[in-house]
Amino acid sequence: DAVTAPPLPVLGTDVMVPLVTGDDVPYAALDYAASAPALRSVWEEVCGYVPYYGSVHRGAGYLSQLSTDLYEASRVTVHEFLGCRADDEVVFTRSTTDSLNLLASVLPAGTQVYAFETEHHAALLPWRGAEVTVLPAPASRQQAVETVAEALAGRDPHRPGLVCVTGASNVTGELWPIAEITEVAHAAGVRVVVDAAQLVPHRPVDLAELGADYIAFSGHKMYAPFGAGVLAGRPDWLAAAEPYLAGGGASRLVVHGEQGLSVQWQQGSARHEAGSPNVIGAYSVAAACRALSAAGFETLVAREEALLERTLTALAGIPEVRVLSLLGRTSPRVGVIGLVVDGWNSSHLAAALSAEHGIGVRDGMFCAHPMVRRLLGADPDQPQECAAPEPAGPGERPANAVRMSFGAGTPVEHLDRFVAAV
Ligand code: PMP
Repeated sequence: DAVTAPPLPVLGTDVMVPLVTGDDVPYAALDYAASAPALRSVWEEVCGYVPYYGSVHRGAGYLSQLSTDLYEASRVTVHEFLGCRADDEVVFTRSTTDSLNLLASVLPAGTQVYAFETEHHAALLPWRGAEVTVLPAPASRQQAVETVAEALAGRDPHRPGLVCVTGASNVTGELWPIAEITEVAHAAGVRVVVDAAQLVPHRPVDLAELGADYIAFSGHKMYAPFGAGVLAGRPDWLAAAEPYLAGGGASRLVVHGEQGLSVQWQQGSARHEAGSPNVIGAYSVAAACRALSAAGFETLVAREEALLERTLTALAGIPEVRVLSLLGRTSPRVGVIGLVVDGWNSSHLAAALSAEHGIGVRDGMFCAHPMVRRLLGADPDQPQECAAPEPAGPGERPANAVRMSFGAGTPVEHLDRFVAAV
């Protein structure tokens, strides 16, 4: 029943694309992990608001008031959607990348950061001012928890610490044991941030229950149009740090006296939202939260798991296909499948899926180079180009992979077409 349940209506499903054969076929968007097509209801809500937008926190007129109200109401919607603790801040950003860079900018002096080498670059690279321990790739969920425990054992409990971990991998779709990792980290006095870019569109999140301290994600991967992301979590580091961006909105009072300029910065989320807020972006994220809640994660997850099972079973019947997995075959996953096909260069395969079958997937290393190189068995000391210049012959190590990913708007026909095309 879950397989045949109708998908949620998304935009772009009726786009016809020309094939090299001269035929036209309906486009099969199987690159949700990069950017998911917007849900129609989200788009309609956003378009309904566009004629009425005005400046947020900066105008006395009616449309400014309306926009300020909608902007702050969107914050409340996100707060509720994430199951935040009462005092958690919700800061609107541009994206997951922006959210994690914001968090990196507010770390107290001397913070030790721990991140697995398998993280997306957005979660691996922002911690430039901190002392970073890069944790080795684990081979199972259990080992992931143990790796964190070992890394934190014996550390100075007075130094601030932060573990950064993905909620769901953008390469394998595998769900990481974030509740268990949080328990271990908290026992060592270390905070946890979850890169939830691939988690939030696929699974319900209850931050209070999970215990994690921060969460970061992007609207464009959760069926909203582009432009906004979120960092939510504990308020104290955010309140104590200098604003992420300096400017209007972040400043409460600026005085030019004999001592030069003196600035009183805002408290709360406004401290890190300098400049005119992206009210349409924030409203889009809130509309996506409303749409996902209305659809119900129980239904969404049941359908996604049935489609995943069907696709993985079909792919398992093709001997040349290797589905990528770090944490083991039995690890739970979301609708993201990284794979390589023996004898095929992944870029050529992705190009053929598009040109001959009208299927949009992604090829490459998915902004997670150490992760993909680890999975493909590349020598970690031999840097190589992202895209393989040559087709990988049989038995030759591929330099990159193909990723197909789907979600609430994917009809089963698109998945079957993918399997048949492969
Ligand atoms: N983390 C993960 C796991 C992702 O998949 C992505 C996007 N591919 C990001 C972070 C970065 O998201 P954005 O490009 O929206 O900043």
